[in-house]
Amino acid sequence: MNTIENLEGEYDLLSNPQIMKYYSLLQNIGVFKHIELINKELKNYKNLLSGARDIFNRTTIDEIIDAAVRQISDHLLPSFIVFLWKPLQSRNDITIRSYRNYKPVDIGINITSITPFEAFFRQYSRPVNLDKLITELNDESIIETLNKVRPELIIPILGPSGLYGLIMVGCKILGEVYTQNELVFIENLMSFVSQAIQNHLHYEQTLRDPKTGLFNHTFFMARLSEEIARSRRSKFSSTVIVMDVDKFKNFNDSYGHLAGDTVLENISFVIKQAVRSVDIPSRFGGEEFTVLLPDTGKEIAWGVAERIRTAVAEAIVPWNTPLPQVTISLGVFTFNCNEVLTASEILTRADEALYQSKEGGRNRTTVWDDALFPNIEPVQE
Ligand code: GH3
Ligand code: MG
Ligand code: MG
Repeated sequence: MNTIENLEGEYDLLSNPQIMKYYSLLQNIGVFKHIELINKELKNYKNLLSGARDIFNRTTIDEIIDAAVRQISDHLLPSFIVFLWKPLQSRNDITIRSYRNYKPVDIGINITSITPFEAFFRQYSRPVNLDKLITELNDESIIETLNKVRPELIIPILGPSGLYGLIMVGCKILGEVYTQNELVFIENLMSFVSQAIQNHLHYEQTLRDPKTGLFNHTFFMARLSEEIARSRRSKFSSTVIVMDVDKFKNFNDSYGHLAGDTVLENISFVIKQAVRSVDIPSRFGGEEFTVLLPDTGKEIAWGVAERIRTAVAEAIVPWNTPLPQVTISLGVFTFNCNEVLTASEILTRADEALYQSKEGGRNRTTVWDDALFPNIEPVQE
């Protein structure tokens, strides 16, 4: 079989007596030099191929970035690498990760949006050097940051809906310039990284609600089913919290739908801040939110619910006109292997607890309890 490895083996020329016979001639006309160059290029492509394979095997953006940083740092020792991207195309917030010498560090990239780069990379979709980019940018604070950090190469992450992010690579750690071959290697490897990040962003976006960035209803239900199956095999409890904004119709009627949307975004932010990375905060629909808390019992879940409730009630949401504080009501239901329930039965119980909160005067949390709702029979499977 002709793998890259055994092709390279065929170039072991000096052991061939015919070649040795014409050694001086071949040397003089530059054949060996040429072969050496080809071998270098071949090595570059082998590195690139194994780098690409490594990058496409990763399943999260953090893993993709770790692999990319390792690949680039192993081969070229850049002074820094920065990745910045928009997790959701429908929103402007960006995530930034910067690395120096394989380690995550803050190198002072003070960029909050990639919008100022969009016009440039719409025209010019290739990696560029700093000077070329700066002459075309109109944003003074971004130019100042870029001039301070001085990346050697800026690589766009481009996809069907425009610019998704940027990758910036600093000069070599000892100040030497990159060779043409090295620049080609970075450019090629980063085009794979950019593709892998883009694939992942598209996948992530199918799981999320575009307005708030929380998980969507479909993903929540899928994770709840998985959690139910898991809870049947473990001794831990898990919890579902459901939340509904109080009197939100009145709020919209008085302050308008756009103000209402801003309030919903703020509530989402509060929920995200209050939960762990393993929890599944989601927008269930309209002004209703849910959180799945794996391995979490009643008491802790009640604490989380109360933390969310008070933070929402205390939040001041900036708007053109002062807005009144908005409250939410919550229902909490904890399940475990002691009782076999379906996803919809679990949600019904959490909803019953929520209903109790509404009945009790709103802006409160109710934990579902047998004593509170005695007439529900567990379903036998
Ligand atoms: P309750 O305390 O009983 O929940 O009262 P409510 O007014 O919140 O309940 P109702 O179900 O009657 O109204 C829900 C309102 O939520 C109606 C709808 O206009 C508003 N709403 C749902 N989704 C959105 C949204 O995406 N943006 C905005 N601004 N409002 C929404
Ligand atoms: Mg509602
Ligand atoms: Mg409501």
